[in-house]
Amino acid sequence: MKFNTKTIHGGQKHDTAYGAIVPPIYQTSTYAQSTPGGHKGYEYSRTHNPTRNALEKAFASIENGNYGLAFGSGLAAIDAVIKLLKPGDEVISTNDLYGGSYRLFTSIFEGFGIKFHFIGMENSSKVEHFVNENTKLIWAETPTNPMMNIIDIRTLAAIAKKHNILFGVDNTFATPYLQQPLDLGADIVMHSATKYLGGHSDVVMGALIVKDKDLADRLYFIQNASGAVCGPQDSFLVLRGIKTLHIRMQRHCENAKKIAEYLVDHPKIEKVYWPGLESHPNHEIAKEQMKDYGGMISFVTRGNNYDDAIRIVENMKLFTLAESLGGVESLSGHPASMTHASIPKEEREKTGVVDALIRLSVGIEDVDDLIADLEQAIG
Ligand SMILES: *Cc1c(COP(=O)(O)O)cnc(C)c1O
Repeated sequence: MKFNTKTIHGGQKHDTAYGAIVPPIYQTSTYAQSTPGGHKGYEYSRTHNPTRNALEKAFASIENGNYGLAFGSGLAAIDAVIKLLKPGDEVISTNDLYGGSYRLFTSIFEGFGIKFHFIGMENSSKVEHFVNENTKLIWAETPTNPMMNIIDIRTLAAIAKKHNILFGVDNTFATPYLQQPLDLGADIVMHSATKYLGGHSDVVMGALIVKDKDLADRLYFIQNASGAVCGPQDSFLVLRGIKTLHIRMQRHCENAKKIAEYLVDHPKIEKVYWPGLESHPNHEIAKEQMKDYGGMISFVTRGNNYDDAIRIVENMKLFTLAESLGGVESLSGHPASMTHASIPKEEREKTGVVDALIRLSVGIEDVDDLIADLEQAIG
């Protein structure tokens, strides 16, 4: 089955009770048993729920995995991955990563004796310097947030395999429409389904997808034992979202391309970060491992003035200033004062998160309206 069919049919069967074309919302916590243990495969909704299971099969299908797991948020999904580890274990992670992932690693799991190394993975040869006998996980995000660096998934997968280390990829920004990390050798794919998979800014959810049965069993155990599952209503919403993922992504990419080109030519804009630009330092890797270049763009205004950036995000009308990304509507963000405010200025500037950096999540509105909005806001 091709990807554009999988988004609609992948892992899905019609409801066995009445033939409903869409998996019903089984809003139930428990299931009747005729005799102890005599049930129809469902005992308790933390462990299994038919709506969630339908979604988990869809997750597995679109990422070319064998097993999918749905969680109450993206961070709950990452939390489950780190719980595969033990005190003394070490993780090598992207340095330019989602702020909440950084907080989870450093403020929660370092306290449990797990050591994290944060490094720039655009240069994959760097990674091997940090591998030792305690290294159990390599964690990568690509494109990175908010600098849109591209990490070579295939090369990292080879390094991980050589040293017998698990390799996980946060595929939130790219989505399986653009890249399928399991096919490139990753062991675990993670999503904040809150973003593109849900696609309508109306739900918070996380996903993990794997190929290996043993790894899946360990993660299912953690999912049930720790209990950070999502509800049936939210499962229904994300299942619905996935059905249009391919056409939404196509439009996100088309619009982003036009906006990136508009910004590159704008005299008041100094830098544009979008992996589809030939000037992007990792453009060649992006071209190789991605189908298109995504809907996320960052840019810096000329002179790198904090007040200019604030004025622009305040003045935009169609781009709403808000956390999050990946919905049908366009959003803007100012990383230095929002997502990355907790990182000291000196630290964040090392990775490029300067005062005048603005991040756009380009929606699927008419691109002429979006460009007119940027035009009036940049002035
Ligand atoms: C939003 C996000 C997360 C966290 O997901 P939540 O659903 O907000 O918990 C993780 N990684 C990336 C890249 C994200 O954008």
